[in-house]
Amino acid sequence: MLIVQKYGGTSVANIDRIKAVADRVAKTVQQGNQVVVVVSAMAGETDKLIDLAHQVNPSPGEREMDLLLSSGERVTSALTAMAIQALGHKAIALTGRQMGIITDKVHTKAKIEKIYGDRAKKALEEGYVVVVAGFQGIAEDDEDVTTLGRGGSDLTAVAIAWALNADLCEIYTDVEGVFTTDPNIVPEARKLEKISYEEMLELASSGAKVLQTRSVEFAMKYNVPLVVRSSFTDRPGTLVCKEDTDMEKVMVSGVAYDKNQVKITILGVPDKPGIAARLFKTIADANIVVDMIVQNISSDGKSTDISFTVPKTDKEKAVKISEELSNDLGAQGVLVDDNISKVSIVGVGMKTHSGVAARMFETLANHGINIMMISTSEIKVSCVIQDKYTELAVRALHEAFELDKAA
Ligand code: ADP
Ligand code: ASP
Ligand code: MG
Repeated sequence: MLIVQKYGGTSVANIDRIKAVADRVAKTVQQGNQVVVVVSAMAGETDKLIDLAHQVNPSPGEREMDLLLSSGERVTSALTAMAIQALGHKAIALTGRQMGIITDKVHTKAKIEKIYGDRAKKALEEGYVVVVAGFQGIAEDDEDVTTLGRGGSDLTAVAIAWALNADLCEIYTDVEGVFTTDPNIVPEARKLEKISYEEMLELASSGAKVLQTRSVEFAMKYNVPLVVRSSFTDRPGTLVCKEDTDMEKVMVSGVAYDKNQVKITILGVPDKPGIAARLFKTIADANIVVDMIVQNISSDGKSTDISFTVPKTDKEKAVKISEELSNDLGAQGVLVDDNISKVSIVGVGMKTHSGVAARMFETLANHGINIMMISTSEIKVSCVIQDKYTELAVRALHEAFELDKAA
């Protein structure tokens, strides 16, 4: 088999962990498999580099940011390849560029456009383990280094698995799989044996960082077989796969939370066609992804308030755009709320069960938690609440939907 194994930051956090990765890779090779390893930077390294950048410049250039951040994964890819060599196996470390990962030019959140896998294929045929630095690629026209957004090594792994037609993509992390909610917040959280791509995508996009959202999107689109498991144990993990009929019996599969958003409100916007279109087009053109949007009913028929949420990392850009628009339109100004979070419940069973949203609202109400915004899709309900209630809400919802018990 050809197996892609991705190891996250905690799995390569120090020399002992890197040696443990090399052992696992060597074992996989000895079982007769070809292996491509994708590594993240050492735990905390990317945050450290971002902090350094902000110490020299409060708004560092995104092109240079990418060059800086890509260095973390170069370090671990080289060290991991060396550790595998030390065990007597052939290994070659490749940067994103050397792996042929071509992206668009959107620095700090580039999209993969294609992968030239020839060099990796040749190395695998010659008996090498190929160790790829995750999270990075290059823009084809000017060969500038790009990065794929936080958690982007997951996407590197899934995309390589697709490009090389691998039999399996394993995501090794610090928990034993995908749980009903973050096991670091709710100790009763239960490991799922399998989960559909669709539910995983909703959980990831709602903040469950165990898999990066775009990596799930990619895996779903190309049907890449994906397993999430721990690099600290040998227990089986969670299979992420196409939905099957058992899955629909479960009303709610998981609870997710996201503390990385801010709420922006433009007050007193003229209530007429074209305003929302103008605002959100400008925001989209700045490559900012808007999550929730609420437009209040106009009480006087003349003006209304528009609230929306964006990732904290895009706060400054989004506030600037909103203030400019507010001035242009003669609106009453812009409010920014940093102290919010979003809690979501996800389950394909919601397609066929009713009353799920009501039970969520009731649970939050019973704990005295006020809901500021609501959004729903076929398989998800999300509520924006005050940040300080996040853990309480996640625990309460996990309990209310009895997620600690198997269906
Ligand atoms: P890595 O560095 O290996 O990429 P991450 O920190 O990105 O690891 O993701 C793993 C973390 O995701 C876990 O430590 C856990 O706190 C968090 N997490 C959030 N939601 C879930 C969930 N539903 N199941 C498992 N882990 C989750
Ligand atoms: N090192 C990057 C990050 O911390 C990419 C990754 O770990 O997947 O976001
Ligand atoms: Mg991650």
